[in-house]
Amino acid sequence: MPIATVNPATGETLKTFDAFGAEEIERRLARAASAFALHRTTGFDRRAELLNRAADLLDQDRQDIARTMTTEMGKPIVAARAEAAKCAKAMRWYAENARQLLADEHPSAADVTDSGASWASVRYRPLGVVLAVMPWNFPLWQVVRFAAPALMAGNVGLLKHASNVPQTALYIEDLFRRAGFPEGCFQTLLVGSGAIEGVLRDRRVAAATLTGSEPAGRSVAAVAGDEVKRTVLELGGSDPFVVMPSADIERAARTAVTARVQNNGQSCIAAKRFIVHTDVYDAFCERFTAGMRELAVGDPMRESTDVGPLASEQGRTDLEALVDDALRLGATAQCGAQRPEEQDKGWFYEPTVLTGVTEAMRIHREEAFGPVAAVYRVADLEEAVTLANDSPFGLSSNVWTRDDGEVERFVQDLEAGGIFINGMTASHPALPFGGVKRSGYGRELSGQGIREFCNVTTVWHG
Ligand code: NAP
Repeated sequence: MPIATVNPATGETLKTFDAFGAEEIERRLARAASAFALHRTTGFDRRAELLNRAADLLDQDRQDIARTMTTEMGKPIVAARAEAAKCAKAMRWYAENARQLLADEHPSAADVTDSGASWASVRYRPLGVVLAVMPWNFPLWQVVRFAAPALMAGNVGLLKHASNVPQTALYIEDLFRRAGFPEGCFQTLLVGSGAIEGVLRDRRVAAATLTGSEPAGRSVAAVAGDEVKRTVLELGGSDPFVVMPSADIERAARTAVTARVQNNGQSCIAAKRFIVHTDVYDAFCERFTAGMRELAVGDPMRESTDVGPLASEQGRTDLEALVDDALRLGATAQCGAQRPEEQDKGWFYEPTVLTGVTEAMRIHREEAFGPVAAVYRVADLEEAVTLANDSPFGLSSNVWTRDDGEVERFVQDLEAGGIFINGMTASHPALPFGGVKRSGYGRELSGQGIREFCNVTTVWHG
C-alpha cells in the first residue's frame, strides 16, 4: 500500500510519502531506546505535566487536525472534532489517574509472613519500547488510547500507523514533541506493513499492540510469539444489538441507527447484527429503516453530513460483495444496497438494512465494515443468546430490555468483552476495552489498559 493521503470523498491523491529506509528506522529505534532509559526514571508529576500540555495543544489544534482526519479517511467533520476532544479528555484522565492506577500493592501482613518475607510489595514498572500498529478508522483516538497510558507508565512508543493516514500520524509525533516529551519518547515510523517484522524482532522493542483486522493481528502476534514479546490485539467485531419486547423501541431504533453508522459504519464496536424479538420485530424494523433512510450521505466536510464515504475503494468493493452475496442468497434490502446516485466521485455507499439474513450468508460470519445492518428475527431469549454468540467475534454487545432477569441472563452468557444495556457501546478512559474470540485479547483503557505494558514486579524482603 502506498503511504499517501487520498481523499475518499473525491478519490484524489493529495500527498504521497516515501517510506523510511533502513537507516532512518535504525535511527529511530536507537532514539527510542535512549528515550526509554531517561523517561522510565521520570516521576508521575513530570509525565502528567507533559501529557496535560499535549491535551491543551490538541484542544487548540482541534479544527485543523479534524480537517486532516476527514480529508484522509472521510469521517464527518463533526465526528472528527469530537474524536480530537475525546483524545484530550483521555490524556487528562491518565495524567490525573496513572499514579493511583500504578501504585505499589501491598499483600496482607499474614500473607507476607507466610511467604517468609519481612515485607513484600508489587510494583508496576514500565516494559520499554512498545510498537503500536494502528488502523485508520479512528486515526487519533486509537493511537492516543495506547499512547496516553503507555507514556504515563514510563514506556515509550513507536507508531506504525495505517498507510492512508500519514499526515495524522506525523501530527501525533509532533504533538508529543511540542508538549515537551523528550526526543524519542513517541515517534512515527512511516513504513509499510512489510517493515513491521524487522522492527518487532529488534531487541530494543519490548512489546507490541495492534488494532486492526484479524490477518494483521495474526501476523504481528505470530512474530511476537516467536520473539516471546507481549502483545495486545484489538481486532474486528460484529457486535450484536439485541432488542427484547420490554425495550423502549423508539429509543432502541434511534440508537441502532447511530450505533450502526457511526464513523461511516467503519467502527469495530459498531452494532452490526440486529437480533430482534418477534413481538417487536415489525415496530423496530419500521423505525430503524426509516432512520437509516433519513441519514444525510455526502461531503464529510459539511456540518450536516451524517455519513461520509468509505475510507477506501477496496473497502467499498468488499462491502458491496458482502451485500451482493446476501441478496443472492435471499436477503431483502429494506433500503440502500447501492451507491448514492448523486455522488459520482468518492467511495460512498447508502445506509443499508438487510432482513432475512441467514447462516449461509457471508455477512452472518464476517464483519461488515460500512453502513450495512443485518437484521434477524428471533422467537425468544434462548434464540437471541445463541444467535448473538454465533459469531467468530466477541468484541462488545448491546442489549435492550427492561427485564432484570433477562439482563442477568445476557450478562452471564454473552461472549463479548463488553455488554451495554439500553445504550450503545462506547469507549471511556475509565472502562476496560477489548474483546474475546477473534476480536483479540488484552485490554486497553482503565487500570487494566495501563498495566498491560508493565512489568509486574514482586519485591520481596527477607
Ligand atoms: P488493517 O488492514 O489490519 O490495518 C491495521 C494496521 O495493520 C495498519 O497499520 C496496517 O498497515 C497494518 N497491517 C495490515 N496488514 C498487516 C500485516 N499483514 N502485518 C502487519 N501489519 C499489518 O485494518 P484496517 O483496515 O486499517 O482497520 C479495520 C479493522 O480494524 C477492522 O477489522 C476493525 O474492526 C478493526 N478495528 C478494531 C478495533 C478494536 O479496538 N478492536 C478498533 C478499530 C478497528 P497498512 O495500512 O500499511 O496496511
